[in-house]
Amino acid sequence: MQEDLVAQRLREMMRESGAHLEGHFRLTSGYHSGDYIQCALLLRYPRYAEFAGRALADRVRGLSPEMIASPAIGGIVIGHEVARALDLPFIFCERRDGAMTLSRFPMPAGKRVVVIEDVITTGVSSGEVGRLLEEGGALWAGTGTIMDRSGGQSSLPHLPESLWQAVFPVWQPEDCPLCRQGLPVVKPGSRV
Ligand SMILES: [Zn+2]
Repeated sequence: MQEDLVAQRLREMMRESGAHLEGHFRLTSGYHSGDYIQCALLLRYPRYAEFAGRALADRVRGLSPEMIASPAIGGIVIGHEVARALDLPFIFCERRDGAMTLSRFPMPAGKRVVVIEDVITTGVSSGEVGRLLEEGGALWAGTGTIMDRSGGQSSLPHLPESLWQAVFPVWQPEDCPLCRQGLPVVKPGSRV
């Protein structure tokens, strides 16, 4: 499927699944926004997870991965779907006492590994996975994500492959145009 068609279909799925809400939200950061993203709500539908996994697999195939790795928990479902589409093994790293660790799987030393996340904003979690694997002797071949919200400003050493590059404006409450319109503000996750 063509890139723009994939992006269009994905945006529809994000709205249908409630993963992309439009309205007036108070984010955990304290900022206000007209958009709220929770990819887990998309990935709760296996059919949508499969669609995103196949599309993302097409994006990262050219990196010639031998294994897919994800940061837990957010990256596990989509990482597994990408690995399935490429018929590759899948591993995940998890945070223990603040540090990213590979505690359930052997280190893929000598293997080309692509890191897969659901959403990249700062790229911190994906970066920690990539560096952990590199320190263990693996080759971090690249990174892929359903949504790239970094605006090209992530901390990753390379641009991530993504299905949707989206940057939504956020405002301090006192500067929020939606507050000025008198729209009630909602804390996402408190209903739906
Ligand atoms: Zn507001």
